Amino acid sequence: MKKLLRVDLTRKQFRYEDIPPVYARLGGRGLTSKIVSEEVPAKADPIGAENKLVFATGILCGTPAPNNGRLSVGAKSPLTKGIKEANAGGSAGQKLARLNIQAVVVEGVAEELLVVRVSKDGVTFLSAANYKELGNYELFDRLKEKYGNGISIISIGPGGERLLKAASVAVSSPDFKIRMASRGGLGAVMGSKHLKAVIIDDAGAERLEVGDSAKLKTAAANLTKGILAHPFAEGLRQFGTPLLVNMINALGCLPTKNYSIGQFEGAEKISGEFMAETMAKRPNSQAVHRCMNGCVISCSNVYVDEKGEEIVSGLEYETLGLTGSNCMIKDLDDIARINRLCNDLGLDTMDVGAAIAVAMEAGILPWGDGKAAYALIEESRKGTQRGTMIGNGCEETGKKLGVVRIPTVKGQSLSAYDPRVLKGTGVTYATSPMGADHTCGLALPSPTNPDYDPTASTGQASVSAFLQWYFAAIDSLGICLFASLPLLDMPELHKDLIECAIAVTGQTFDENYLMNLGISVLTVEKRFNEAAGFTGKDDRLPEFFRKEALSPSGLVFDVPEAELDTALRYHEQ
Ligand code: SF4
Repeated sequence: MKKLLRVDLTRKQFRYEDIPPVYARLGGRGLTSKIVSEEVPAKADPIGAENKLVFATGILCGTPAPNNGRLSVGAKSPLTKGIKEANAGGSAGQKLARLNIQAVVVEGVAEELLVVRVSKDGVTFLSAANYKELGNYELFDRLKEKYGNGISIISIGPGGERLLKAASVAVSSPDFKIRMASRGGLGAVMGSKHLKAVIIDDAGAERLEVGDSAKLKTAAANLTKGILAHPFAEGLRQFGTPLLVNMINALGCLPTKNYSIGQFEGAEKISGEFMAETMAKRPNSQAVHRCMNGCVISCSNVYVDEKGEEIVSGLEYETLGLTGSNCMIKDLDDIARINRLCNDLGLDTMDVGAAIAVAMEAGILPWGDGKAAYALIEESRKGTQRGTMIGNGCEETGKKLGVVRIPTVKGQSLSAYDPRVLKGTGVTYATSPMGADHTCGLALPSPTNPDYDPTASTGQASVSAFLQWYFAAIDSLGICLFASLPLLDMPELHKDLIECAIAVTGQTFDENYLMNLGISVLTVEKRFNEAAGFTGKDDRLPEFFRKEALSPSGLVFDVPEAELDTALRYHEQ
């Protein structure tokens, strides 16, 4: 049976606990949210000693199920002030699963900056004095050199150490590229505990045991076959998530010039197609790359400069939208360098990109100037006033600079889909307990669902509610979101997903398993946020989305407020 590992940084102690029965059916986001809701006071200071940082593996983590292995990171968020989960690919989740650890609960505050090493022999507490204020790239190199290629790293950069509210948590991929649990400032929670890095070393660990391996193998094979048969998987493999740039631009909802326009005249230059052409001409680039073992899609990439030197891996749609079109920056190399800088500092490219755009609107730097944006973000390494402002994210930057149009909900910046065109996504932005977030219920038009009109002003709450529980369940299973999207078009494969969960846990689940799991996660999260002081008024988009018509469609966000109030009522039942 898997264990819960509790790490007390104040006393430099650890202990393994049996997983309480109530946790045994949970993993990933479901587990981080459950533990945070039970162990962190809702009114706790997010960067105070009462907050806890939880790392949890998904239910299917480390098994033959396709694209499993996301690592969920959870805490009370310094950015949203509510409950938060962000997840990342990489190898940490699968290594924790091999060590038979379902979750690590980090408590207390260390006296000095520490690295914590987790292996089959337990936990060691190591001084991180030599790593202070090191960027994630050099940190990865030094830890790999010291502890070998068999480890996985979870770490923060200077952004987390400086408690910046847009600080992210980095996770190493099997080839030591940086993946990010970006959203919600969870890197600042790690920094507040003086925890620079966690090293997971699974050397000598026993092979992961599952309840019914034959059943799991059959269900996993069905899932893999289904995912690969879907055209979206092939598109992602060819162009990665940047595939979305041209699609979203054509729909008229690519955030441009701080969400004032829905189409970007430079979209072609930052598109997946252009990126693929560029990479094909450059030595050492990798157009196909996977961030986790067991991924059957490989949507990631390694983007290099003209000489073949790696700039960043992977360059993704949300970064292109938020630090590209939304800032009117159309030079792919500039965007890639900003992405690398954010990875090094340990900052969320999305909240930082949105912050740069509001700073541009305030006239602090010119629209489209990638070099000036880079220089401003770099200031957060030194802790200048302007750098700290940007590193604290979009909402703080907007307020400090007196900008009226601040695209955030619950303190967190929107992702790269304008909600005036994608109104179901707008409902998710408004009502998700996570704050504005694309991974919590992105509602896109689909050829397999021709009756769904994303621009309709009514009927969006039920679409969002469905997607919100669906993705809460997926994030609890530990499956990559991109593997779960094809399954939306193939509900017959949900049976195989449920079979995988039955085979792994040895428990009995019916056909409503995913829905019940997702709803239970959302219920826990909504209740925590209510206890933290959130009300219905927090479930709203900024006013300018209702007042300003988006060019070229002329649409506004006009889903009635009464409908927003119906989106997530599960917790009241
Ligand atoms: S599809 Fe992309 S994000 Fe998902 S596991 Fe594979 S490489 Fe990582």
